Amino acid sequence: MTTSFFVFGPESGQSAGTEYDVIVVGAGPAGMCAGLYCGRARLKTLVLDKLAPGGELLNTEWIEDYPGFRLIRGVELAQRMEEHAREFGAEFRMGTVTEVWSEGVDKFVRTAEGDLYKAKAVIVCTGGSPRKLGVPGEAEFAGRGVSYCAVCDGAFFQDQVLAVVGGGDAAVEEGTFLTRYARKVYIIHRRDQLRAQPILQERAFANPKIEFIWNTVVEEIGGNDAVEWVRLRNVKDGTVWTLPVNGVFIYIGFVPNSNIFRDPVQTDPNGYIITNERMETSIPGIFAAGDVRVQLVRQITNAVGDATTAAIAAQKYIEQLKDAERRARAADPTRSDS
Ligand code: NAP
Repeated sequence: MTTSFFVFGPESGQSAGTEYDVIVVGAGPAGMCAGLYCGRARLKTLVLDKLAPGGELLNTEWIEDYPGFRLIRGVELAQRMEEHAREFGAEFRMGTVTEVWSEGVDKFVRTAEGDLYKAKAVIVCTGGSPRKLGVPGEAEFAGRGVSYCAVCDGAFFQDQVLAVVGGGDAAVEEGTFLTRYARKVYIIHRRDQLRAQPILQERAFANPKIEFIWNTVVEEIGGNDAVEWVRLRNVKDGTVWTLPVNGVFIYIGFVPNSNIFRDPVQTDPNGYIITNERMETSIPGIFAAGDVRVQLVRQITNAVGDATTAAIAAQKYIEQLKDAERRARAADPTRSDS
């Protein structure tokens, strides 16, 4: 059944029902923090996400680099952030946002569920999705041994042999996590040097269950009902060989979820949204924060920092809109309220 809670605007031909000051798209750390700050500014705020609030926090077992929390489960930090934002008035709703656009000063957000929302400002905190390897077998064995989430799927591989692909923070951290279930974890990296933080590297090197396979790429994933092997190629000497494994966890970065804009928004060549220091995108009234934005690091700490800036900038933007509206009314008393 398709539901439309609020129907507005030129497309619908109906007048506005409930509308928001700010709609936050995405309920990861950035989205929840934007909700908190907008709520504290007494802005009528809606946070939309296709899933339960938490974003990448829900795919991370332990967080140990968020100041003030020596060690906290990702799911607990997510719950706390959500409760905190709700306490200050942010409303959370499920919805898969498919389109965001601007008509003059009005912003519209459409969801796959058939809802259309209107706001004065939108803060896009949509993060990214796992990058795919694009090799034969990857799509065929998705959910049957190919995974992008160790926290979600690791427990299915008790005493088994796993391959992890990648050399960044995620591959090394999640590879280490997987050793609590697997009897052996191969981390397959295309170079002979990791990109991951030194502290994560040290733990992985000290873990007797982890073996690194350097200068190597996965060319194919195969098996019968489930994954049974990966075909590897050494990029230095060209050797091709087959490694028997029961599962493959792919952590080769992610692709920003920036394809929800009706009108082109400025991005870098990889699709990350370009903002200024106020988190303004190239579309006035639309802001971006967190992993979806061009930046050097993708940590929870800088995601919430971005979101703080975006929320306060959105607040100032809305105040300016209201000032302009007041001035226009003063200049032309016959003008009706929008
Ligand atoms: P990432 O830092 O972009 O690393 C991706 C890794 O995959 C790199 O080692 C890269 O190799 C490799 N790779 C990329 N494309 C590949 C391909 N087609 N085939 C084989 N290997 C490929 O991605 P990430 O580890 O997912 O992390 C994403 C962001 O989240 C980063 O900013 C990271 O710091 C952050 N993060 C932080 C934590 C933490 O702080 N605990 C945990 C997870 C993620 P090269 O090195 O050769 O480029």
